[in-house]
Amino acid sequence: MSEKQTWQKPTLTAHRIGALNKFGNVNSTQFQETFEGVAIADLVEKYGSPLFVLSESRLRANARKLFRAFETRYADVVYSWSYKTNYLGAVCTTLHQEGAWAEVVSAFEYEKARSLGVPAEKILFNGPHKERAILERVVEEGGRIHLDHLDELYLLEDVAKAAGKQVDVTMRLNFDTGFTEAWSRFGFNLESGQAMDAARILGESEHLNLAGLHSHLGTFVLDPRAYAAQVRIMCGFMDLVETKTGCHIQSIDIGGGFASMNSLHGTYLPPEQVVPSFDQYAEAICNALNDATRERDVRGLGRPRLILESGRAVVDDAEILITSVIANKRMPDGRRSMVIDAGVNILFTGFWYNHQVIPTRPLEGVAEDTILYGPLCMNIDVMRSSVMLPPMNVGDTLVFSPVGAYNNTQWMQFIEYRPNVVMIDEHQQVSVIRAAEDLSVVTAQESIPEHLISIECKK
Ligand SMILES: *Cc1c(COP(=O)(O)O)cnc(C)c1O
Repeated sequence: MSEKQTWQKPTLTAHRIGALNKFGNVNSTQFQETFEGVAIADLVEKYGSPLFVLSESRLRANARKLFRAFETRYADVVYSWSYKTNYLGAVCTTLHQEGAWAEVVSAFEYEKARSLGVPAEKILFNGPHKERAILERVVEEGGRIHLDHLDELYLLEDVAKAAGKQVDVTMRLNFDTGFTEAWSRFGFNLESGQAMDAARILGESEHLNLAGLHSHLGTFVLDPRAYAAQVRIMCGFMDLVETKTGCHIQSIDIGGGFASMNSLHGTYLPPEQVVPSFDQYAEAICNALNDATRERDVRGLGRPRLILESGRAVVDDAEILITSVIANKRMPDGRRSMVIDAGVNILFTGFWYNHQVIPTRPLEGVAEDTILYGPLCMNIDVMRSSVMLPPMNVGDTLVFSPVGAYNNTQWMQFIEYRPNVVMIDEHQQVSVIRAAEDLSVVTAQESIPEHLISIECKK
């Protein structure tokens, strides 16, 4: 018996073979059968669909590229992995093995880094919410606290006093570089004088020493000149604050924000043309830093350590999402659509990126503008509002990429179970690094009061 064909209502799409039209090249021949040497079909058969797949080699290669770009241009560089970008244990430990410290923004993330074996002195603790209990633990263990606001400064002062300790702290700054919209809600503002006021308070504190400066401009910052401006501003403040308060700044932390090879909605040029390389970012940053600190060498002050907290640019292209076609549908306006088994519940970044979407086998037929809907019974569940794809059968698979940043952390358990996440190592061995959820996982934290346990109707 021959294979059953999927019936498609015929439509007309004018195009010329081999030529570009408003849809781009309609003879789409691109497909991806394997990832890191492993057949996509085998992965789906063994681990199900949808499925997140990480490449350990790519993750390591990205970290090494970042280290190389900066260490060849500046003497003292520390790279700290931003946990919120992807805190799966296997991801964090791979990066820690490559030499990354941990950058955390909550008590939970601090506890996770410690439980993975990261020593406290290699943990940078950012974020606006740090309560007394966690501050006590961090002070006790010697973690590195980045102050966000004055209330935190006073609380930490109190904690340090009670512990009878002198604590080195870093101040988070915010300011306008002229390149990106200033994230003024985090840290102390420079232009208003707030940052200098806080530095003066630290200068007079018996328990806290200002030893570092931090700022994080934002995310997906496409212009390396923004970082050069950031470094110049921070170094200017460093010199000023040292003169005025007698502190000694040992590190300049420029945060994260390097763009990854993804396409923001509304960007028309492909990422290959607009996203700078690590070398381009490093060149701008290290040139500015070397220039701004040259005098310090002469005066015997020493140059500050450079700290990087890059998240998305390191992990994004190390992970893909495999998803399967559930159904083909023709919309009332004639547009073609497909329902797939992965939705915005697990691919949160679908809200702002046009991920690359590639079939996993060569497909016959004319590519057509297609809407990709996720499996949720929610109108917002649109994975791509417009993508050119040839006809596909139920059960055919698609690869979404890159998906390594902000999905395995921002995903939510909503309507569906979250699927398996696997990692392929350098010898093509596949390991489950986060098992698919089932009913017991989803209900584990619930309890039902006694009088509600029976659902038998009393009438
Ligand atoms: C989120 C965050 C990062 C990482 O940002 P990316 O855009 O993923 O590089 C680094 N530092 C801080 C303080 C952050 O909040």
